[in-house]
Amino acid sequence: MNIFEEIKNKLDIIEVAEFYGLQLDKHSKCCCPFHTEKTASFSVSKQKQMFYCFGCGVGGDLISLTEKLFNLSPIQTAERLNSDFNLGLNLKPHKPTRTEITATAKTKRKRIVVNAWQEWKDNTLKNSILYVKLLEYWQKQYAPKGINEEFNPLFIESCQQLEYWSYAVELMLTADEEMWQEIYMKAGKEIEQRIRK
Ligand SMILES: [Zn+2]
Repeated sequence: MNIFEEIKNKLDIIEVAEFYGLQLDKHSKCCCPFHTEKTASFSVSKQKQMFYCFGCGVGGDLISLTEKLFNLSPIQTAERLNSDFNLGLNLKPHKPTRTEITATAKTKRKRIVVNAWQEWKDNTLKNSILYVKLLEYWQKQYAPKGINEEFNPLFIESCQQLEYWSYAVELMLTADEEMWQEIYMKAGKEIEQRIRK
């Protein structure tokens, strides 16, 4: 068994892809790291241990994935995988090339952005639920008691907003990535303002 076969036996392509910063969705797809695109056409198969991009046609196994991601020679790739995953193979310790250093920095930056986005989604959902609860409370608490009583502004707000925000929460609970991006584009500012109050 050659060194590449040995590495492939020890590793899972999904694990490698995620370790190197690819954000796979539940269908193991993501935007292609090798060409610019907005919708995910890059697909990784756990079963076949292969990747393939339906956009630009690039594909291969976990060795060629790592090779392409960091622009390495096959032997450098083996060294890098051996180091990064502590495979304990008898190979030189891997010294990162200049391209790799830049790529790693980029991945780190991307991870920070992704984490911030996840946090925004979590906070938005959490605060929207709180807001709906508040509206429900206001609607009961501040409902006019008599026909001549002036409407409390909080009661008015609850009448205007409750239905919309209940619907929004329902959407958020089932939203996929695409839906979240739409929510952000269409209502991100409004949500942030309302929630900050
Ligand atoms: Zn591609």
